[in-house]
Amino acid sequence: MLADEFGRSFYGANTVVVAPIYPAGEQPISGVDASMLADKCRSYGHKDVHVAGELDSLAEELADQVSSGDLVITLGAGSVWRVGEALLHRLRGHASDTRRAPPEPIEAPAVGRSGATSAADLVADLEGEAKVDHPMTRCTSFRLGGPAEVVFIPSSEAAAAEAIARAISEGVTVTAIGGGTNLLVADRGVGGIVLSPGPAFGEIRFENDGRVLCGAAAPLAKVMRQAIARGWVGMETLAGIPGSIGGAAVMNAGTRDGEIGELIVAVRGVDRTGRLIEVAGKDLNFAYRSSQISKLGLTLLEIELTLEQGDAVAASRRAYEIRHYRNRTQPHKVRSAGSVFKNPPGESAGRLLDRSGLKGVNVGGARVSEVHANFLTAEKGCSASEIAGLIERCRQAVWDQHQIGLELEIQPLGFDPGELPPAWSGG
Ligand SMILES: Cc1cc2nc3c(=O)[nH]c(=O)nc-3n(C[C@H](O)[C@H](O)[C@H](O)COP(=O)(O)OP(=O)(O)OC[C@H]3O[C@@H](n4cnc5c(N)ncnc54)[C@H](O)[C@@H]3O)c2cc1C
Repeated sequence: MLADEFGRSFYGANTVVVAPIYPAGEQPISGVDASMLADKCRSYGHKDVHVAGELDSLAEELADQVSSGDLVITLGAGSVWRVGEALLHRLRGHASDTRRAPPEPIEAPAVGRSGATSAADLVADLEGEAKVDHPMTRCTSFRLGGPAEVVFIPSSEAAAAEAIARAISEGVTVTAIGGGTNLLVADRGVGGIVLSPGPAFGEIRFENDGRVLCGAAAPLAKVMRQAIARGWVGMETLAGIPGSIGGAAVMNAGTRDGEIGELIVAVRGVDRTGRLIEVAGKDLNFAYRSSQISKLGLTLLEIELTLEQGDAVAASRRAYEIRHYRNRTQPHKVRSAGSVFKNPPGESAGRLLDRSGLKGVNVGGARVSEVHANFLTAEKGCSASEIAGLIERCRQAVWDQHQIGLELEIQPLGFDPGELPPAWSGG
């Protein structure tokens, strides 16, 4: 009876997160657990009910989900109130995030790779938001680089397609970005249109057959969490990778245990002619940190995954363990863009950099992390050219000592082709 009452008690909440049940001295009641209570809520029609993996990681998970103005209530007889305290602590920490602070001074005007019509004019009347001369420090985890000529956040597929079609006909560059967690933006900024699929492309829809339809801007971590909460497993190996699902698809983001490309059935987006098209996952040639998506010039708007039903509690625990392992072995709470170099076949870029004595080496405010040598961190006052200088210094040292040429994993943006060392990929 209590379970039924529980199931009916949360109509007023937009989202319900059911934490694990821990017995307090009494014997556990067989069949009564968090999943059963969540199912009860769903059976009474609640649309957004999740089962949390571990109480310890709940604040971390909530911090990624809540937005300004949300009201979060913790209810329970045990220590769940601590989650509220931990969440406040985290959010206060996030509030000092410079991405939300006033823009840093802009040193140089954005270079134009735009044609006669300005990039801003091209999108001015389209459905969405256009941010002219927008600091890319706010759009990237490195928090580096100059401004974008215009960042366009379309609010419909039609607006995204029209922006791209107009840009093509005017010879204006369009660059799609996601969470900016794999980008190095040049100090002079980025010309043309930087297209950022925003909240209009953040929806995640779960079908009964295991297909998941994700807007390109949906955070990868959120897709994974919501999938596990519904009993769909397969994404746990991606735990702890920041950024959007769109960016993850382009990069074929992953770890040694799995990559997102293995789960992608199809992608939908706008091609180089401004047409909305769909491409099957099998035609995207997913390989280690690469896919055909950039080569096809596709701006992704939707990604379709396929997942399997499985043990949600085990999946949640695995995700938690992976995140904790990463926190121990990689620098976090610093400005970085993840691994800078791809691992050469059969080798680890981090190990090669470490063996070359590069940990702690710096160029200005750019420094090789002491925790993991394949992470470069940006300290206060660091510029993109200092990161670029350090990248070259690292590549040269590894070449001199091991005769191995490291290939770049992070994506340079806004650099002129002549400025990039020949071995740098992307851009
Ligand atoms: C601390 C840290 C840890 C990381 N760990 C990992 C890891 O373990 N494994 C891993 O693979 N990566 C890792 N990364 C790198 C990065 O998080 C991933 O590559 C991520 O998937 C990039 O997603 P994003 O949304 O931030 O993409 P962005 O950085 O914004 O873009 C990446 C590329 O995708 C393109 N792109 C983005 N969105 C679209 C779109 N909608 N349409 C077309 N093109 C688009 C961009 O032009 C760019 O070329 C890490 C990064 C950080 C900061």
